[in-house]
Amino acid sequence: MTDTEIYNKQVPILIRNAWINGKRQEMYLENGLISAISEKITDHDAEFVIDANGAAALPGMVNMHTHAAMELLRGYADDMQLFEWLSTKIWPTEAHLTDYDFYIGVKLACLEMIRTGTTTFNDMYFGMEHAARAVDESGIRACLSYCMIDGGDHEKFESEVRAMTSSVKNLKAMNNPRIMPGVSPHAVYTVSEEGLRWCAEYAEKENVPLHVHVSETEQEVKDCVAAHGMRPPKWLEHCGVLSKRCIAAHSCWLDADDIALYAKYGVTAVHNPVSNMKLASGRAIPYTEMKEAGVNVALGTDGASSNNDLDMFSEMKTAAILQKFASNNPTAMPASDALAIASANGAKALGLKAGVLAPGYLADVILVGRNPSTVPRFNAESNAVYATSGLAVDTTICDGKVLMFEGVIPGAEKVMAEAEEAAFALARRAENA
Ligand SMILES: [Zn+2]
Repeated sequence: MTDTEIYNKQVPILIRNAWINGKRQEMYLENGLISAISEKITDHDAEFVIDANGAAALPGMVNMHTHAAMELLRGYADDMQLFEWLSTKIWPTEAHLTDYDFYIGVKLACLEMIRTGTTTFNDMYFGMEHAARAVDESGIRACLSYCMIDGGDHEKFESEVRAMTSSVKNLKAMNNPRIMPGVSPHAVYTVSEEGLRWCAEYAEKENVPLHVHVSETEQEVKDCVAAHGMRPPKWLEHCGVLSKRCIAAHSCWLDADDIALYAKYGVTAVHNPVSNMKLASGRAIPYTEMKEAGVNVALGTDGASSNNDLDMFSEMKTAAILQKFASNNPTAMPASDALAIASANGAKALGLKAGVLAPGYLADVILVGRNPSTVPRFNAESNAVYATSGLAVDTTICDGKVLMFEGVIPGAEKVMAEAEEAAFALARRAENA
């Protein structure tokens, strides 16, 4: 096969001359899985051979907390107080999002993720059928959860239940193994007890992940205690939400009892260090305490309006150095942990056999090319976490299909041009309303 024919086809692929799990090795991908890794693979039927030229192979990144369509609001409003930012800029603009905006926003998000080495993302937003079409075309994996916000209003709750069930039903009907539906109650301060209980039962019945924002700010914790006499994790336990399927974004303001609850129920905490620092959420996730308690911690970027990119490499670096800074301890979150929270731990939370380079795992593999910031390679993991950005990724493979090769993603220019036009039109509609 020639280079231009290779894209988006699940054919046997041999990767030669790569740095894999600390050694120069070869990797063979077949039927969407990693089928072999060894120093020399001779018995194969590869239709495409990639000479990695000394690049480091890593598992594709798993971005565990996104609002992908918010790509269209990147750089639209920054450097503001959280509530003012939400109420004067984000919410009024979101009210003007069209079906096409959801689609093209997610197309741009998928393009950015493929470009920067992410092969799976866990999204919470609206317009999930349109998001799913974008994911389907882009070739990456996603768990897509409609976001329920009922504000304590029973009629709104009932219409949100209809929206959620149709979203889950439509996504399941696509029958695409790369697209998984999820259930998302937005947060304890935007969803009623009735809504939280329903989401927990519905996620259990459909056997899908449940994705919720938890304890992002100190104010959220104080308000929850004032309203219910309990901190958010305890309130979620009371409403039946805590379980192995629960993915708790942010989880910044946790105390020892909260961490014990996460450990008891097998909840996954998702760290979003850039968003938390940019919006001044005021606290680093208690990573070391969670790790000691056996809590699964994963990593996410949050939406592009509060980050402002979806680059998991810069997120890994920020996570690792924030832990060291916040705990005044340079041994906190070593590079190997940063890589695990950015890949294997997220995959585990979504029930995917991915995030590890070993035979039998999904063929979700990226190559970090040789460039000035990866030389010398004393330690490929250290370079990946501390020295490179996602733009150093030159090859992205998901489900055994090449989505980017040598930095080229077919159709990228068209997606960027259409997304930019849609973003400007959206801003005009919001400003003229
Ligand atoms: Zn969020």
